[in-house]
Amino acid sequence: MAEKLLAVKGMNDILPPESARWEWLEGKVRDLMARYAYRNIRTPILEHTQLFVRGIGEVTDIVEKEMYSFEDRSDKNGDHAFLTMRPENTASVVRAVTEHNLLYEGGKRLYYMGPMFRRERPQRGRYRQFHQIGAEALGFGGPEVDAELILLAAALWKDIGIIDWRLEINSLGQPDERALHRTQLIAHFEQHADMLDEDARRRLHSNPLRILDTKNPAMKAVVESAPRLIDFLGTASLAHFDALKAILDANGVPWTLNHRLVRGLDYYNLTVFEFVTDQLGAQGTLCAGGRYDYLIEQIGGKPAPAVGWALGVERVLELVRETGQSVPALVPDAYAIVPDAASVPVVLQTLQALRAQGVSVQMHASAGSGTEGMGSMKSQFKKADASGARFALIFGETELASGCVAVKPLRGSKADAEAAPEQSLRKLDEAASWAAILRG
Ligand code: ATP
Ligand code: MG
Repeated sequence: MAEKLLAVKGMNDILPPESARWEWLEGKVRDLMARYAYRNIRTPILEHTQLFVRGIGEVTDIVEKEMYSFEDRSDKNGDHAFLTMRPENTASVVRAVTEHNLLYEGGKRLYYMGPMFRRERPQRGRYRQFHQIGAEALGFGGPEVDAELILLAAALWKDIGIIDWRLEINSLGQPDERALHRTQLIAHFEQHADMLDEDARRRLHSNPLRILDTKNPAMKAVVESAPRLIDFLGTASLAHFDALKAILDANGVPWTLNHRLVRGLDYYNLTVFEFVTDQLGAQGTLCAGGRYDYLIEQIGGKPAPAVGWALGVERVLELVRETGQSVPALVPDAYAIVPDAASVPVVLQTLQALRAQGVSVQMHASAGSGTEGMGSMKSQFKKADASGARFALIFGETELASGCVAVKPLRGSKADAEAAPEQSLRKLDEAASWAAILRG
């Protein structure tokens, strides 16, 4: 036998029945987004590397070391390109919105779902292909949209049964307000240079704000005693933040102020927030978001404010699993038992009629090429049972001869037995009239 090929490290297959959980979550999200009037956007997985360098920032973990990039072969005209598999979706959304001039008639509310790629060390809650669901509101500057996005996320947790979450918020103010803070922050860290780890020393002059979100416990003291950004904000920034907090309070969404919650890049401003949980160990951030009023301009668009968030689907689903929440299992309503392959054309007419009526039917099929037959009745009944179906449809020779199929309840529930006592014969050409019995 040929050597078995395996998936790429850190990239997971999502298999049934687990994939049902994914579809369940996606369904909840679609429904919720519609209620908040957010519309779906789908951008390509490959973009020019330059988009992420500009849109995420050169001095970030993602761009420094996590991107899957390659040089594309030349097209006929000799063009070649440096491409990257998207590590996140905000930059692409901004690119698309700019490219298609979507803000022409005012703001846009958008959402996306899909795979992202980052070369990280795979571990629980951290993969190389992972999935995000994100919401972005572009062209709106006021705190009410920041609040709307946070309310939307909180509503999602409620819809999917997650109660163990905490909302942390902070305000980054505006770039000019951060300049003075930056000077004092660098001075503070230089004074305590002996307490900085290697990462922090490297970032001291390139991106000192990022030192604040270190995960190194040894640096806790030096970070806690650092000058706080909030003390450098002007009245307009504080008013924006206060308005957001007032909306959250009025709507019963609890929040805590986290002074260490930052983003290291100049195009982030005002609101930043994260939904975190204690249930998932080290990878406890479920959803991260904030304002990026200067990003659209950075990517070459006409300046416009924007705010958004992205959640990690794997982490959210793991938390759903932790809470013991069961997701509706996908089982067919009926399993079609077909003793003789020659009757398949007739059988399928009935199955198609049932399916058109919304009944989920699994047809028995043989593993072989057909000449061996469909397998014994006993083995077919075993398969029917294993499928989880509530009914077996038996297309036997005698039943078919009288234009009928036998309907047999498999699960023994009282309602099923009443609907089809023992084994009731149903007319093939009247499938639409008895389909409802199978749908349950
Ligand atoms: P972290 O600090 O955990 O690395 P991040 O700041 O890199 O997160 P964002 O870029 O803000 O994360 O992405 C938003 C969300 O996507 C995260 O809060 C997390 O839930 C999820 N996420 C990010 N990277 C991964 C990954 N490699 N595997 C699984 N989920 C991820
Ligand atoms: Mg990361």
